[in-house]
Amino acid sequence: MRGVILHAPGDVRVEERDDPTIIEPTDAIIRVTATCICGSDLWPYRGVEDVHDAVMGHEYVGVVEEIGADVRTVKVGDFVVGSFWASDNTCEICRSGYQAYCVHRVLMGTLGTQSERARIPLADGTLVATPGMPDDDLVPSLLAASDVLGTGWFAAVAAEAGPGKTVAVVGDGAVGLLGVLAAKQLGAERIIAMSRHADRQALARRFGATDIVEERGAAGVARIKELTGGLGAHSVIEAVGTQESMMQAVHSTRPGGHMGFVGVSHDVALPGDDMFMAGIHLHGGPAPVRRFLPELVRLIWDREIDPGQVFDLTLPLDQAAEGYRAMDERRATKVLLTV
Ligand SMILES: [Zn+2]
Repeated sequence: MRGVILHAPGDVRVEERDDPTIIEPTDAIIRVTATCICGSDLWPYRGVEDVHDAVMGHEYVGVVEEIGADVRTVKVGDFVVGSFWASDNTCEICRSGYQAYCVHRVLMGTLGTQSERARIPLADGTLVATPGMPDDDLVPSLLAASDVLGTGWFAAVAAEAGPGKTVAVVGDGAVGLLGVLAAKQLGAERIIAMSRHADRQALARRFGATDIVEERGAAGVARIKELTGGLGAHSVIEAVGTQESMMQAVHSTRPGGHMGFVGVSHDVALPGDDMFMAGIHLHGGPAPVRRFLPELVRLIWDREIDPGQVFDLTLPLDQAAEGYRAMDERRATKVLLTV
């Protein structure tokens, strides 16, 4: 089969890979219908993370082609969505809603879903089947549920977005934008998107943002305070992962408020004195997308939400290198690869 290999920073190639096979009786093999490039794929692409001949991709939707002997809840022919962590969904951590930390978890990026087929470990726990074969226009939204929507949703839940709350969102990538959508769905009263890109501001407004703040850093914090009677937001979503964005989020949260941070952290060090004086709740990390998948699939299937709008470039898998370039150069927010 064909699949993306990142040979070295900046060197993306689509090459022949071995077809996946059932290894464990709990595995399923899917024919990937659509996959995508994640903001987190840019870290190795830019050489911030070490990389050498790596398979790539952890987001996927597709059709089940083969199942192992112990797979019970998904069957051949099902259209399925799964999280970027494979999880059994039965261990104590999974049952508490933290499937990204399953005691048997497997990171899908290590198997690489930017490919024609993929092996899905722990298929019963990992995959959620849709009610039938989706219309083509639903596929981008279902694919978004695999990571960026689920992650934005978790961030909004972790930040306790809800009725009567003012939510501020730091980061206007796909996750930040879908954090806006999630906050809206969860009933937030006011949603402030922090973005300086006109197209992303427009999408944030379509997803439910009521205010836009273009300033960053201390100026961004000052603007959030100004918009919230000097108090800061009740709920803040952090969806970048840099020192500046984390501190912008911390200082934008009012005392007693909640911050959900889901940007993959790179060299962030939280100063003890700032954290001590902030008096806020912090919750974040890799999102337990699987917790939310059944509800997200239902909302998409019933056309109540349209998260697939975050994809602003669609390319065939063979042109993955152009997709990486477009995201790296910020010509695209999120690239969908058709297989
Ligand atoms: Zn588990």
